[in-house]
Amino acid sequence: MTNASNAVVALPSRVRKLVIVLGDQLDLQSSALQDFDAAQDVVWMAEVAEESTLTWSAKQRIAVFLTAMRHFAQELRARRLPLLYTQLDDADNQGTLALELRKAIAQLKPSGLILTAPGDWRVLQSLRTVATQHQLPLDLRDDTHFFSTVREFAAHAKSRKQLRLEYWYRELRQKHGILMDGKDPVGGQWNFDADNRESFGKAGPQDVPPPTRFVPDPLTQEVIALVNTRFASHPGTLHSFGWPVTRTQALQALHAFIQQRLPLFGQFEDAMWTGEPWLYHSHLSCALNLKLLNPREVVHAAEDAYRAGQAPLAAVEGFIRQILGWREYVRGIYWTQMPEYLERNALSAEAELPAWYWTGDTDMACLKDAICQTLEHGYAHHIQRLMVTGLYALLLGVKPQAVHTWYLSVYVDAVEWVELPNTLGMSQFGDGGLMTSKPYVASGKYIQRMSNHCKGCKYDPAQSTGAAACPYTTLYWDFLIRHELLLKKNPRMAMQLKNLARLDGPARDAISRQAATHRLLQQTERPQTPPQT
Ligand SMILES: Cc1cc2nc3c(=O)[nH]c(=O)nc-3n(C[C@H](O)[C@H](O)[C@H](O)COP(=O)(O)OP(=O)(O)OC[C@H]3O[C@@H](n4cnc5c(N)ncnc54)[C@H](O)[C@@H]3O)c2cc1C
Ligand code: SF4
Repeated sequence: MTNASNAVVALPSRVRKLVIVLGDQLDLQSSALQDFDAAQDVVWMAEVAEESTLTWSAKQRIAVFLTAMRHFAQELRARRLPLLYTQLDDADNQGTLALELRKAIAQLKPSGLILTAPGDWRVLQSLRTVATQHQLPLDLRDDTHFFSTVREFAAHAKSRKQLRLEYWYRELRQKHGILMDGKDPVGGQWNFDADNRESFGKAGPQDVPPPTRFVPDPLTQEVIALVNTRFASHPGTLHSFGWPVTRTQALQALHAFIQQRLPLFGQFEDAMWTGEPWLYHSHLSCALNLKLLNPREVVHAAEDAYRAGQAPLAAVEGFIRQILGWREYVRGIYWTQMPEYLERNALSAEAELPAWYWTGDTDMACLKDAICQTLEHGYAHHIQRLMVTGLYALLLGVKPQAVHTWYLSVYVDAVEWVELPNTLGMSQFGDGGLMTSKPYVASGKYIQRMSNHCKGCKYDPAQSTGAAACPYTTLYWDFLIRHELLLKKNPRMAMQLKNLARLDGPARDAISRQAATHRLLQQTERPQTPPQT
């Protein structure tokens, strides 16, 4: 058996610093390891069940974290760094990060702890508490896997009445000289959205390059077996596991994306097609969030491709906007709004998440495709998350906290700092417009325009009532009816409300009745809660 907990390098008899490396901090260059002294310091890593069960994590998500951690541990040992590593299946595993850290402190008696700022608010609180209880100084360092610090975002936010991605993104482009010609944006504009976001047309996607996937090595195979046994009841499968789990693999995936997919990234950024999960997306979020890649090298690789004439500006700007813009923006929102942000529910949505989100067992073709692919690979691209699974939950009126739990469970890239603002803020409008200027709502016609899903569906996106009515279309009008008073205050909703005003009283009543029946059916088919391990 490949045992990641073998202490190959002897631990120092007197430990100066215990350097905490969390499962999503897998970079030898991380700030916590900057002044590491192998003669006196020890790296501490722990696999604990709580991180997979507190949120009912999908097998793909659990496996990607565990195997990436074990591969990183191998790297540390190869470099002869003293390491104390607890495996999930170790007999005396205490099950939580806090308890494992206490155990390590009792064993090694370090004089202090070093930690790169964690992604999760909860994890930071729990590790801080342990440090305080043991009266140990905690040296908390900035995470250098972002262009900005949370302090910079807080300063930006303080000077504005309203937060918007666009201003923050422009500030970062200027500050870091990304896609700039002196003081001006390259190409004379900041945004090329108008050139991007086409659908595939009737012919569908043509010659999409295969994704860069990796055959599981023995270490990963061992983790897959462990997850299949220990977390058997958790959602999803591991048959197709192929994520990059080392820095070398992540770099390989990055280079393949830049060469093969980036040129068409922007054009088909929002397009969907049945049975085509990967399309022209990068599939790099997981490697970025585990810190196998630094966003600087990803952004620079994309900019270099543009400057070398290998990818058009619209595609490159669209891609860089996601990383330099959205990724930094959501992190700033998370850390400046937590912990209150978790409880926000601006639309007072109280419905439960339908049971079939955990199985894909629904007759709505778009949802079936997005959910089944999610359970198979732990992946769906942005528009599937926002305008298929997210949109349906928003229109149905599911409580944002239940939607948050699902997104945090099922994706390989799910870490709370990035998942929560995207789900509760962008997708569910739970923060009432702090993050985005209006709710992302549309009828089934949007999905029809951007995909071929409706062709294979028993519903008709043009119908809002009757047996063939598309649930999205029914629920879209019902959403506008239910929230009309609130939405009237938002100038960006004016066009949608103008269209609503064309519906007479009986038409509104029929939509409301159909929506109520649909809602009732989804709730009665709900199992109570996901089973817990
Ligand atoms: C409801 C919802 C939940 C989401 N949950 C997560 C999550 O848990 N983890 C996560 O990393 N992303 C999340 N996103 C953002 C986005 O959907 C994913 O980053 C993206 O789909 C990952 O696929 P990709 O690597 O192929 O991305 P690409 O389409 O190739 O985009 C490139 C990169 O840009 C970054 N990015 C793109 N959009 C966003 C965004 N809105 N916020 C932050 N970074 C972004 C990612 O690092 C991504 O790898 C969520 C979006 C929504 C609407
Ligand atoms: S008709 Fe409605 S439910 Fe069916 S695929 Fe289209 S949008 Fe989805």
